[in-house]
Amino acid sequence: SADIEGIVSLFDVTPTDTPTPDDERVAKLAAPKFGTVFTDHMARISWRREDGWIHRRIEKYGPLQLDPATAVLHYAQEVFEGMKAYQHADGTVWTFRPEQNAARMARSAHRLALPALPVDDFVAACAALVRTDRAWVPATPDSSLYLRPFMFASEPFLGVRPADEVEFLVIASPAGAYFSGGVKPVSIWVDAEYHRAGPGGTGSAKCGGNYAASLLPQQEAAAKGFDQVCFLDGGTNTTLEELGGMNVFLVMDDGSVHTPELTGSILEGVTRSSILRLAQDRGRDVVERRIPLTELIEDLRSGRVAEVFACGTAAVITPVGRLAGETFDATIGTGEPGELTMAIREELTAIQYGRTPDRHGWLRRL
Ligand code: PMP
Repeated sequence: SADIEGIVSLFDVTPTDTPTPDDERVAKLAAPKFGTVFTDHMARISWRREDGWIHRRIEKYGPLQLDPATAVLHYAQEVFEGMKAYQHADGTVWTFRPEQNAARMARSAHRLALPALPVDDFVAACAALVRTDRAWVPATPDSSLYLRPFMFASEPFLGVRPADEVEFLVIASPAGAYFSGGVKPVSIWVDAEYHRAGPGGTGSAKCGGNYAASLLPQQEAAAKGFDQVCFLDGGTNTTLEELGGMNVFLVMDDGSVHTPELTGSILEGVTRSSILRLAQDRGRDVVERRIPLTELIEDLRSGRVAEVFACGTAAVITPVGRLAGETFDATIGTGEPGELTMAIREELTAIQYGRTPDRHGWLRRL
């Protein structure tokens, strides 16, 4: 939009003095190991309590020098986002519903007593970075440029109070196909011992602490041979919430599509809300509700649950082949990806990569 173009033009661009040589970049793009390779630049906006958001800029990607007393290192006052830029067949680059990520970051920031960054600044920062580092958007099938906007308390101060100085940055990392050998179902451990979030806590915010809390349960589930953890609600420990980094869906044998309702401790996924819409468009009943684990176990036994999948920006949709916990161990269907799971996955990725008309107006050109 005009507003976003206006803000993009406010960014001071200082090109790196050490750009990655073309052949090196091409080699890195050919086999990017997720989250290890970064583009040449980063977007940055500073915030001071007296001045608000200042100094929009694109600068050389590189280490941040932080005072050891920097608040985020002590009290984890930090939020982040995750989204992708997709190259279409005609060479244009697009992102998917970035206003949703921007709005979620503002909600997350509110919960962490961080300042809200206006939606247009968020989108403009992503656009300014992707335009500067256009050569880093991969073109191979199912690849993308992963964008990581984040905001943290940068004030050097050990008092426990909201920081008066905050930095917002966007960094970018080329990502290959999530499933390089074809979509493969994952196994999930339903954890009744640990929670990632609790009532009144920060579960619906995308803040680093939630992910720190998920690491030990994830590690213990991996030791048991499972790929991912599904957490139960922290209040009653009886209903399904979500995975460490993905929302969860059930497809019932009557064709209806169910997902845990937003309780305040679940992250509202952009993929989740898009899938709810696409399922509705297909005439499916979509139900957001509390899903008790005991009911799920019974429905897995009786075959009422036909498909289970997890969803998020990184993998889009991941079929679940096995679901187990202390008292049960169930194979879902034949253990192979479900039909609706794969149909919606194809539909959503076709929209993102411009292979099908964007009838919902979800794409934004960068
Ligand atoms: N839940 C959690 C805890 C997550 O970290 C993510 C990834 N952002 C999701 C769900 C899925 O959200 P989205 O579809 O917006 O990527």
